[in-house]
Amino acid sequence: MSLREFVEESQSFGDVLKIETPLSPKFEIPLVLKELDGGPIVLFENVEGYKVKVIGGVCGKRSRIYKALRVRGAIELYQALLEAVKNPLKAERVDDGPVAEVIEKVKLDRIPVLTHYSRDPAPYITASVVSALSPDGEIENVSIHRLEVLDEKHLAIRIVPRHLYRLCQIAKESGKNTLDVAISIGLHPAVLLAASTPAPFGVSEYDVANRLLGGRLKLLRCRYVNAYAPSEAELVLEGKIMLDKLVDEGPFVDLTGTYDRVRRQHVVKVVGVMHREDYIYQALLPASSEHRLLMGVPREALIWNLARKIVPEVKGVNLTAGGCGWLHCVISIRKVREGDGKNVLMAVFSAHPSVKHAVVVDEDIDPFNPREVEWAIATRFRGDRDLIVVPNAAVSTLDPMADEEGLGCKVGVDATKPLKEGWMFEKASIPLSGRVKRLLEGLRRAC
Ligand code: MN
Repeated sequence: MSLREFVEESQSFGDVLKIETPLSPKFEIPLVLKELDGGPIVLFENVEGYKVKVIGGVCGKRSRIYKALRVRGAIELYQALLEAVKNPLKAERVDDGPVAEVIEKVKLDRIPVLTHYSRDPAPYITASVVSALSPDGEIENVSIHRLEVLDEKHLAIRIVPRHLYRLCQIAKESGKNTLDVAISIGLHPAVLLAASTPAPFGVSEYDVANRLLGGRLKLLRCRYVNAYAPSEAELVLEGKIMLDKLVDEGPFVDLTGTYDRVRRQHVVKVVGVMHREDYIYQALLPASSEHRLLMGVPREALIWNLARKIVPEVKGVNLTAGGCGWLHCVISIRKVREGDGKNVLMAVFSAHPSVKHAVVVDEDIDPFNPREVEWAIATRFRGDRDLIVVPNAAVSTLDPMADEEGLGCKVGVDATKPLKEGWMFEKASIPLSGRVKRLLEGLRRAC
């Protein structure tokens, strides 16, 4: 399954906007993506200075992610993700594929990489997946990393201490000074989502993606490095992470919409480029809804999975847009015992330790509707009884309010109604007769 097929399918639902006005990848395309954030997929057909097209916002709507994964809603998506991590399906390795149509000399300035925000030091590749193998070839990891374009042949790669970092360590310990990587761009949403889903070290996220795609992911061995890329990607950069070289990276606008600090990071030397003849460059605007959903949705799945061990039913989990898809959580549950709300809050903080403010609401409150959530806080919450405050807890490195040691404060709000005399807290409703129903439908059509 390719990005193209998915875009075509989305087009048939009227969910793709084509822009013919010539626009520059520096600031102009990013600004249009920002203005249209959360809307349709945007295809820029005329990119100033380049022959290829740019696409953005592909994973920018929850409903579109559901369609891509053939699920009907959030809970089904969580189940599919957790199931795919538990039962990954080995992806087929093939010798050729559409991405190998053109094998080209390395010249990164030929690729329309976007420069997003005003203080950005350089263009950044943000929607690529990076795959690497352990030196013995036994372990494969696939993850998303921001890549700063340094010059025609070099990128700086931000590696947080997780699995790719561990592969770098293993390579170093076995005496190597480089680690081969495939950097793939232009991918089906399932591959992007799998690459941002936490799977145990040793599980290839390609195999997670392949499970999500029903066995339709094919992998192609790179020409110059020992790494694999989806054969239906739009563009692949073959590279070597130079393990003995660090450079200043950033500042980069992260999920919070604020600048991360300048960090010392590794350099990737790009040694090969392959792409489709008329490849589409896939972009992702930092701090956009697409960024939040790709990072947040897999964490919602973890929260859902832990919370349902405490209460029989978890109706929904929302890592909210205002909370950067990462720091704020609203969870809706069916409460059965007094105190369930607080236990669920603790589960939220455990399942996703980056959450700093969490709200738990009853099953009649839609966690995706901020007004309903506020109503629950207004009518079902008392600060002296229903509040949890945890000072000096470890918080997200993305939290601008964290102190130097990474400590901050977690706050949990239990806005579930007391079980005793629960009727007093019910949303009052009015019975609906047949003719009022018809009248209202008519009025709504007329408006
Ligand atoms: Mn991994």
